[in-house]
Amino acid sequence: MTGNVKDSSIDFDAVIIGAGFSGLYMLHILREAGFTSRVFEAGENVGGVWYWNRYPGLRCDSESIYFNYTFSEKLYKGWTWSSRYPEQPEILSYLNYVADTLDLRKDITFNTWVESAHYDEENNKWVIKTKEGECVTARLFITGVGCLSAANIPTIKGIESYDGEIYHTSRWPHKQIDFKGKRVGVIGTGSSGIQVIPIIAQESKHLTVFQRTPQYTLPANNHLLDPEYLQNIMDNFENFRNEVRHKTNGGFITKPLNRSALEDTPEQRERIYENYWNKGGPHFLSGSYNDLSTNPEANETAAEFVKNKILEIVKDHKIAEKLIPTFPIGAKRIVIDTGYYETYNRVNVSLIDTKKEQIIEITPKGVSTTEREYEIDVLVLATGYDAMTGPLLKIDIRGKSDISLKEKWDGGANLKTYLGLANSGFPNMFTITGPQSPSVLGTVPIFIEQHVEWIAECINFLRENEIVEIEATKEAEEVWSKHAHEVASKFFYAEHDSWYTGANIEGKPKGILVYRGGFQLYRKKCDEVVNNGYEGFQLTYRKNLSNNNSLIH
Ligand code: NAP
Repeated sequence: MTGNVKDSSIDFDAVIIGAGFSGLYMLHILREAGFTSRVFEAGENVGGVWYWNRYPGLRCDSESIYFNYTFSEKLYKGWTWSSRYPEQPEILSYLNYVADTLDLRKDITFNTWVESAHYDEENNKWVIKTKEGECVTARLFITGVGCLSAANIPTIKGIESYDGEIYHTSRWPHKQIDFKGKRVGVIGTGSSGIQVIPIIAQESKHLTVFQRTPQYTLPANNHLLDPEYLQNIMDNFENFRNEVRHKTNGGFITKPLNRSALEDTPEQRERIYENYWNKGGPHFLSGSYNDLSTNPEANETAAEFVKNKILEIVKDHKIAEKLIPTFPIGAKRIVIDTGYYETYNRVNVSLIDTKKEQIIEITPKGVSTTEREYEIDVLVLATGYDAMTGPLLKIDIRGKSDISLKEKWDGGANLKTYLGLANSGFPNMFTITGPQSPSVLGTVPIFIEQHVEWIAECINFLRENEIVEIEATKEAEEVWSKHAHEVASKFFYAEHDSWYTGANIEGKPKGILVYRGGFQLYRKKCDEVVNNGYEGFQLTYRKNLSNNNSLIH
């Protein structure tokens, strides 16, 4: 490993947490503009979520041609994706390619966990302390901690007594796990479970899947990318970039049909759904009828189509019935898979519906349910994440008057942010893909670029105008949070339990964690804030301060 900075400077213009997609670009753009920056990263190399999350079968559910930076044509053209949906090792290689090409490692401290960031009101600086004993100060504090990075470890009775191997999908060991000849149990059937299950089924002696809620999953129809198709993108890069950034939901090019599912006959609908099912990926929902996420009757037609597919693919009717979801399609994040339903036709796979046959405890030998004990050699927890707010609340972040972010948000019950980017009481702090921004509702790197570029422009504005402090006002936060709730309330996901609303975490208050107004509307709102002189922010000019505090360098 190269990098791992520990130089003598302890005061920076900006401190950034995380060396994933967010932190790498933030570091690069600030460095290019002449700001001094330091990134702290818990992992021993770059990658963020894609460094930690490396279970077999992991692929992104965004298409690879959009799942990268677009800010530099040269950087874009220097990389070639192999397949339609990128697999984790390839994404990690891509981020290493970026770090190498832009020479980013020299400003990153690896293997370092930021424990606290406290705002020093007297000096208008953030004081950042790490678990490893470092203490630095910075005018600006920027989080790039990811939306899905804090693992949800289930508190099942007896889990600590288990004698076998146990792994959480999001903290997979950096070595190959040998499932050959072993009895494996998987708890959880979200995106992670649905991706890892077919692979483990092929390798293990027996696989027992503990499913609490069946999910809708659509075939990925992954395939190698045609070099001609890629060349065409490279040849028309400017158009491509403009389209992705300014005309789509961050890479979700497929626009829905201009009509309700209820306007078509059942036969027409069947043809449309079959077509999108075969195309693969999430386009089935986002690219077909325009009211599937809002109109229950329309939604039912799509849900019915998928239910029939399950009954068709899974040979054993009783197993198929267990796999059929009972909530509207899209109310939880849609999953895409390769051979998931087919896996249940294998003789070495069993499916336990834990709503009927509940898990009582984990024993030293395996999993004990209301029916029996399942002896398990390797237990895989595919139980997801404390999403969006979780990674931020793991750090002791304190703003003005020593109030913590946890207190301000009342643990999430009173979640209010400004644009998902800033918080009142927390001056000079920015949260890349923070709660109440579009974050995960599109192609994340494209959303990250928009946030990073907005923050960089703001920081330039502070420097040019001798502003030492920028802070979201309470009023602006109120208006934004109300708007975020209003736009979300039209969609099913707002009222159903999932990580989108925090309902997957025991004791976590339920609320709207993502902005559902669409990326283009969001971008427009962020741009308006800038065009109106950072409307909704309170700006403190150096000339108005008695202590003449120094500026950003
Ligand atoms: P998830 O969608 O939250 O799924 C977690 C699963 O674990 C659910 O089936 C959940 O059941 C179950 N579970 C949680 N706690 C449990 C407990 N105590 N006992 C029994 N079952 C329990 O998490 P995920 O699969 O890791 O996916 C999270 C998100 O990460 C995805 O939606 C996606 O955005 C992203 N992701 C993407 C990819 C990809 O790009 N292809 C891959 C992996 C992850 P309930 O539904 O009943 O709560």
